[in-house]
Amino acid sequence: MRKILKTASMITLPFALLILAYLGADRTQWLTEPQLDLLGMAPYPIFLIGGVLAWKFNRSREFFLLLVFALTLALLQYSPQAGAVMGKVLLEDLLLLISLILPANILIFSFFKERGIFSMWGMTRVGVIAAQAAAAVWLMKPEQQSLLHQWRKDLLPFSLEKYTSLSQAALFLVLLAAIRLIYRQISRPSSQDVSFLAVLLGMGFALHQVYDPLLIAVFWAVSGIILISSIIQDSYSMAFSDELTGLPSRRALKQDMLKLGMNYTIAMLDIDFFKKFNDKYGHDTGDDVLKLVASILREVTGGGKAFRYGGEEFTILFPGRSVSEVLPHLEQLREKVAGRGFTLRGKGRRKGKGRSRSKSGSTRAGRTIHITISIGIAQKNEKNKTPDEVMKAADTALYRAKKKGRNCVSK
Ligand code: GH3
Ligand code: MG
Ligand code: MG
Repeated sequence: MRKILKTASMITLPFALLILAYLGADRTQWLTEPQLDLLGMAPYPIFLIGGVLAWKFNRSREFFLLLVFALTLALLQYSPQAGAVMGKVLLEDLLLLISLILPANILIFSFFKERGIFSMWGMTRVGVIAAQAAAAVWLMKPEQQSLLHQWRKDLLPFSLEKYTSLSQAALFLVLLAAIRLIYRQISRPSSQDVSFLAVLLGMGFALHQVYDPLLIAVFWAVSGIILISSIIQDSYSMAFSDELTGLPSRRALKQDMLKLGMNYTIAMLDIDFFKKFNDKYGHDTGDDVLKLVASILREVTGGGKAFRYGGEEFTILFPGRSVSEVLPHLEQLREKVAGRGFTLRGKGRRKGKGRSRSKSGSTRAGRTIHITISIGIAQKNEKNKTPDEVMKAADTALYRAKKKGRNCVSK
């Protein structure tokens, strides 16, 4: 449910932009000649801004896609065959190439891990893009016509020419890329995949129409804007959510603490003997436990909101609630954590290389262990007037809970 809501909120902006592009492109007949020229150039500064942002935020997927968009537009607008000499056949070839290159790159980039732009990896990608550009120029030569036209052939036993300007190979690539992005989105929601999907569909739509340079310019510009918004959106959520657990981070906590009203309660939670746990089972297993505990804390009832304070410590804010009101909810939470067994995974089943420092992890595989948390709570009152003071009081209460023997809630 949370994933669906998250995706829905991510979808709104890019698809609203696409609809705007569609409506805007319909009204270009009202523009004057110089305005039209300007519109034709508009995508380039957008790509430039996007490129700089992608570089600064280290987002190679956006960076290279923006580069491909810029190159395809330049190919269309400035290639030697373009302009007066460009007959209908050549233009069709160019459009065919672009309709293959874009979805193919979106698909390829979806398999790449984030490994930097100006790194060795990034340079390999620049090589891949340069090779495509060279191949495109080569394929455009009259001698290679027959090879290029292979791509226009129908894959299905019937023709779709009546319905779309796209070749079946291009449609197939768009479909494949869309499936890949939707799959990524379902397994791990991110605004990046949603915006890539929007850009893919926008590009497919623009190329599916009868060729109109302005329509392409508008959709290419909007694609640039969508990619920029995805960079900003993801960087924002990265700053405010904790990477390991997905809970809101300490920065989000500081902001929410400023919004607390007249009455509120703060709880500080800490996993018991976690250092020992790490030493015994390894740091990676420790991380898995942190994720498990976070997933339980996220479901806190009684109007609370959980944050990862840092390390194995968490904070829950209860705006408008008193200690007596939240106590039963926290007791329930504590019991839920203590009752939830954590099954150790065998070394062979661990993902990736890991940093497991466990000495004999494999022999413990399959065993279920239990973890407990201690909780300290405090509410706003005469003595503790500010959120910082209340939090400090909750921390002192947590210390008392530890002294009492752990796995308990203390006021
Ligand atoms: P206590 O019951 O008194 O809280 O004992 P403790 O061992 O939990 O307390 P302490 O604060 O001494 O140890 C916290 C440990 O949490 C130290 C560190 O190894 C571990 N830890 C902190 N952050 C992370 C993390 O992100 N991942 C993992 N795996 N361990 C972490
Ligand atoms: Mg601690
Ligand atoms: Mg601890």
